[in-house]
Amino acid sequence: MFCTAMIAPTDTATKIELSIKALPEPYRGQVLVSIQKQYTDFYRDLTVVLENTEPELLVLVDKAHALPENYIPNDLVLLDSAQVVLNKKDMQARRIAAQALYTMVHAAQAQGITISVSSAYRSYAYQESLFSMYVKEMGEEAASRVSAKPGHSQHQLGTAFDFGSVTNEFAKTRAGKWLTQNARNYGFSLSYPEGLEELTGYSWESWHYRFIGVKAALFEQKYFLGIQQLMLLFLHTYLKA
Ligand SMILES: [Zn+2]
Repeated sequence: MFCTAMIAPTDTATKIELSIKALPEPYRGQVLVSIQKQYTDFYRDLTVVLENTEPELLVLVDKAHALPENYIPNDLVLLDSAQVVLNKKDMQARRIAAQALYTMVHAAQAQGITISVSSAYRSYAYQESLFSMYVKEMGEEAASRVSAKPGHSQHQLGTAFDFGSVTNEFAKTRAGKWLTQNARNYGFSLSYPEGLEELTGYSWESWHYRFIGVKAALFEQKYFLGIQQLMLLFLHTYLKA
């Protein structure tokens, strides 16, 4: 594909090639171009991301990749209403994600923008009841466009948050616009962007962000067209290869 052996060890270069090949077209070609353009940087940045990010923050959870039914993060904390506006009681998240959330909402608050949280950690059992509620309401096919099956929700990771109204009206609000511009600088990434349903499996959710760490969020922006699914799919293949 391209000569990388001078920069990265041969086995690493092979893994990088394999992982790019695992991406679906038309994105594969675009990611390849952006990586090839700055391959030395890419190899260095990949190493930095993997050395500085907890593996759990980068786990691929989508329609094809599930978490075990018994997966419960071991460092869940209650979200603190003194730190962030909470639209419902007793929400939990992983400690590392909650800390990053507070830092981010304080930065927004300093600019007069309030970001409120509507959903955070969801257990396997809770997701199961949520999904079956949607199925009853709209049938299985429509339900699976808007809600994850149990085990397939990023919310089970304890690092995903829904903000504001949980409708795409949120994108037009000051909080929604601020997050679009700034979330990645705090390690948050929009999981289901507009127009990417075929890739992510879900219709646009302008309110749903996942904490992946600052280094990974910037890595996603620099090489993966700012698309979380592409970066997580790449890393999923890379780490298994
Ligand atoms: Zn969500």
